[in-house]
Amino acid sequence: MKEYYYNILLDPAKLPDAWYNINSDLPSPLPPPLHPATHQPIEPSALQAIFPNALIEQEVSNQPYISIPGEIMDIYRLWRPTPLRRAYRLEKALDTPAKIFYKNESVSPSGSHKLNTAVAQAYYNQKEGIHGLTTETGAGQWGTALSIACSMFDMSCIVYMVKISFKQKPYRRTLMQSYGAKVIASPSDTTDFGNQILTQDPESTGSLGIAISEAIEVAVKSEGKMKYTLGSVLNHVLLHQTIIGEEAKLQMDSVGEYPDIVIGCVGGGSNFAGLAFPYAQDVLKKGKKITFLAVEPAACPTMTRGLYAYDFGDTAGMTPLLKQYTLGHNFMPPGIHAGGLRYHGVAAQVAHLIRHNIITPISVLQNPVFEANILFAKCEGIISAPESGHAIRIAIDEALKCKETGEAKTILFNLSGHGHFDMSAYEAYLNNDLPDYELGEDILKSGFDSIPKV
Ligand SMILES: *Cc1c(COP(=O)(O)O)cnc(C)c1O
Repeated sequence: MKEYYYNILLDPAKLPDAWYNINSDLPSPLPPPLHPATHQPIEPSALQAIFPNALIEQEVSNQPYISIPGEIMDIYRLWRPTPLRRAYRLEKALDTPAKIFYKNESVSPSGSHKLNTAVAQAYYNQKEGIHGLTTETGAGQWGTALSIACSMFDMSCIVYMVKISFKQKPYRRTLMQSYGAKVIASPSDTTDFGNQILTQDPESTGSLGIAISEAIEVAVKSEGKMKYTLGSVLNHVLLHQTIIGEEAKLQMDSVGEYPDIVIGCVGGGSNFAGLAFPYAQDVLKKGKKITFLAVEPAACPTMTRGLYAYDFGDTAGMTPLLKQYTLGHNFMPPGIHAGGLRYHGVAAQVAHLIRHNIITPISVLQNPVFEANILFAKCEGIISAPESGHAIRIAIDEALKCKETGEAKTILFNLSGHGHFDMSAYEAYLNNDLPDYELGEDILKSGFDSIPKV
């Protein structure tokens, strides 16, 4: 009987000690962020009301590598390096000549990749004397990650949780509270913006954009005691996630493998970028050929059907304007179960590389995603997050294409998290009760109307 080596583990002593900054290798500079009111390029110092200096420096840095402070490395070592796994059993089930590998970020204490940046953000804030952090959360993964990070650095944490998730995911809420966070359903009566929304629509179930506006308002009004944190989209967040791809490269190298295709699901773009950017460096600098597939839900088709334009990150229009793909900051996506992928925009760096034809966006419906999740669970034993299932679906589709053509391509995808708190989504799928949303042009049009004219 053949012995399979499923897990490709990295020696903990070889944990990478620097993040890779793709700004240093972009084919052209990123379009600058603009001031929300004047629409002129914003001075980095204007961000000081909400972010600490170290993170603002990272946001605009062009240094190729930024070393990871020892205190962060020490916390990373609680679960990093994460395993790279060869999905032999999935390959067999698909009867494909393709080799399928995945990076398993679900083994972190928060159950997703988000802790990689939460720990870094809490560290830099605490070092600059900040007592607490505010943020928003949709499905709950980011709020959970930040709650853990704050507890590790002895900081307070206020999480504005989109009201519909607050009601639908009570255990996510309890999880955050267990780590000491204060969790508030958004829209709430604790902020001016929340009150404004509630006056217009007392029944509002909330959105990520509204929750962001509330969390920023609290940080801005805290007189420097609290700062705001974002779990995706911004350059510094994507930077922190590159630890995933840095490890994956060492692990793939250790078994003499190199990917033809790299796949990740995309909400704001951070887990995808985390795996893809260190490999994109090889494409940009060394002329390597890799197909990068960025997968989004058809119900929130930011990259595949959005406009490439400057837009706000939040509903109230308080954030700087970033050049990105956007469905409009007022866009309200249907209530699909991949809550982490229900965002109207995408990271500027990811959008930029799509414009340069380095990254290819692709969208999928949720029933095919759950079909893939179930097959993956049966083969690999892991219940994937609904979000990560988007990457699994496309990895399977690419492997099936190889079966057609007889090509033995090497496929690498990111398993961004587990789905242990998403069983209601699995239940709906198993009961044939999961709708597939194909958005009409009219729905997209009304979102586009909210994109500012710059
Ligand atoms: C938040 C989240 C995502 C989406 O966010 P990105 O910044 O695009 O990575 C994907 N998967 C999981 C498990 C998440 O928690």
